[in-house]
Amino acid sequence: MDRKNKPLGDLSTNFWKKEFRCPCQKCRRKKVRVSNLLLFKLEMLRVALGNKPVIILSGNRCPEENKRIDGHPNSAHIPKPDGEGADIKVKGIKPIDAGLAAEKIGGLRIGIAKWGTHLDIRPPSPSRFWIYLGKKPIYSAKIENESLLKFYQIIKGKEGEKTDD
Ligand SMILES: [Zn+2]
Ligand SMILES: [Zn+2]
Repeated sequence: MDRKNKPLGDLSTNFWKKEFRCPCQKCRRKKVRVSNLLLFKLEMLRVALGNKPVIILSGNRCPEENKRIDGHPNSAHIPKPDGEGADIKVKGIKPIDAGLAAEKIGGLRIGIAKWGTHLDIRPPSPSRFWIYLGKKPIYSAKIENESLLKFYQIIKGKEGEKTDD
């Protein structure tokens, strides 16, 4: 293996357990569990975005922490047994553009928010895409599951001047 491709992180080449750890006190010494498939897709995303660091805003969450931050009760962030979701941001990349790059990679559910992009490897339920307006996610209808961009434009069009990015 040449030196350039040597794994650096303790989860995968560019990702570390500490980035994915549930932030609550109770989980300080708990094992961090992240799906290898999710890590692989995050590595692909990093490459797709020109090798810019993908910053993990939220990885694992225990059910208590998930409840505290008002996450979906069946959130992909809760390890079962592995965490299958991550909230990410990439410096200089809009959440929608990170989402569109993730869509090209495929096999991901994608949520677009102002703070960044939610990605997980769960099957579509109720849909593949959603957009957070404030805390509330607006899910794409079945027919709009084909294109994140199309769905995004529909929601943005309805929102009009109310959203400002
Ligand atoms: Zn916790
Ligand atoms: Zn999330």
